[in-house]
Amino acid sequence: MNNDIRVRFAPSPTGKVHIGNIRAAIYNWLFARHTGGRFLLRIEDTDLERSTPEAIAVLFDCMKWLGLDWDEEVFYQTKNVKRHLEAVDRLLASGHAYKVEKTSRDGKTGVVTMFRMPKEGVIEFDDIVKGHMAKKAEDIPDFAIVRSDGSPIFHIANVVDDIDQRVTHIIRGDDHVENTFKHICIFKALGAPVPKYGHLSMIVNQQGKPYSKRDGAAFVGEYREQGYLPEALFNYLLLLGWNPGDDREVLTREEMIELFELEKVHVTAAMFDPKKLAWMNGEYIKKIPLAQFVEEIKNRVSTLTSRVPEHDAAWWNYLAEQLQVRTKFLNDIPAAIRCFVSDDFPFDEKAVEKRLKKPGVKDILLDLIQRFGAVADWTAPALEAVVKGLSQGNGMGPWVHPIRVAVSGRGEGIGLFEMLQLLGKDKTLARLQRAADTLCG
Ligand code: GLU
Repeated sequence: MNNDIRVRFAPSPTGKVHIGNIRAAIYNWLFARHTGGRFLLRIEDTDLERSTPEAIAVLFDCMKWLGLDWDEEVFYQTKNVKRHLEAVDRLLASGHAYKVEKTSRDGKTGVVTMFRMPKEGVIEFDDIVKGHMAKKAEDIPDFAIVRSDGSPIFHIANVVDDIDQRVTHIIRGDDHVENTFKHICIFKALGAPVPKYGHLSMIVNQQGKPYSKRDGAAFVGEYREQGYLPEALFNYLLLLGWNPGDDREVLTREEMIELFELEKVHVTAAMFDPKKLAWMNGEYIKKIPLAQFVEEIKNRVSTLTSRVPEHDAAWWNYLAEQLQVRTKFLNDIPAAIRCFVSDDFPFDEKAVEKRLKKPGVKDILLDLIQRFGAVADWTAPALEAVVKGLSQGNGMGPWVHPIRVAVSGRGEGIGLFEMLQLLGKDKTLARLQRAADTLCG
């Protein structure tokens, strides 16, 4: 346990939480949990137009959804303005800051407080992720820390809050590297210890450009709406820039906490791969306990019909087992279960064209009605044996595909014979007849 380590996640709430930001939160959280330190939450809410109570509520909600619990009370930047301005007074008194009259773009003049950068020497730090970083002080011009309306600017607010929260490690996006050179000078001018830094590389798209909403879902809330599981998104974002050093990819929260090390975070930009995230989601769906997955199905049945079909627990469990291993998104469940809920499901036109309109298919279906009609033990293996017998070892495709479209309206889904077992004999035969009568060419 190291109770001295204190890190913080310091977002500026806007009502949408970008995946890059939440990855920074995840890394901070894991670093704190791994080291036994504290993970603090600071709301940088100085932009009053964007940081509305609703925007802050969205942020809390996202963090709770992902299981990112924080220690101590939430710290609000706007509540610390007095301290920011006290620090400015000290900087003015010590000569590290000065006031200057400036004319704004709209022609108004006002007094702005500037931070006086050292004019010589090198500003340097050892970044835990990026290694040694250095910049000549003379290359950084003096910068404003208080606006003409008297309000503190990001640089001073951010540093004073970090001092007041006794933050020891600042883990944030590398878009802040340039700020860090300035911030180090402020820490020193205020006589405060300079924290350690770890700057995280950007998440980029397939072209290597910063990942934005033009590339796909960029905000946590969108993934939630699309049916991603929080555990999958968490795990995927963790792997964007870090791995456990072996080929394990799906990790429990305990393993993540045990294995995460900031030193091992990759320096190179992390490329966002939506396909891998979808795969990861499927892996987490497989981990849902069966009883819970049955509930997920039932909840979605009620979005399709007011009458949940009556089946025994064994039927629901069997459906859940079949569906769970194939489901990538919980949002795919309704389409996959429609054929079990009612006879009145939509037919995929392309699948009908490809599988039912071909010459000869009608006869195949009529023949199957006879053969299935004679099956007494209506189970997946018995039904499969019937089709196997027909195919004589030449592949069951010519039977399987038309049957699937006839009974479910779709070209894909759970294993066909399992599907027929779940539908039962009467429904299967009636649907084959209906397809032969109305859909075949
Ligand atoms: N509010 C800033 C941001 O979201 C804080 C950066 C930081 O110091 O972590 O970019």
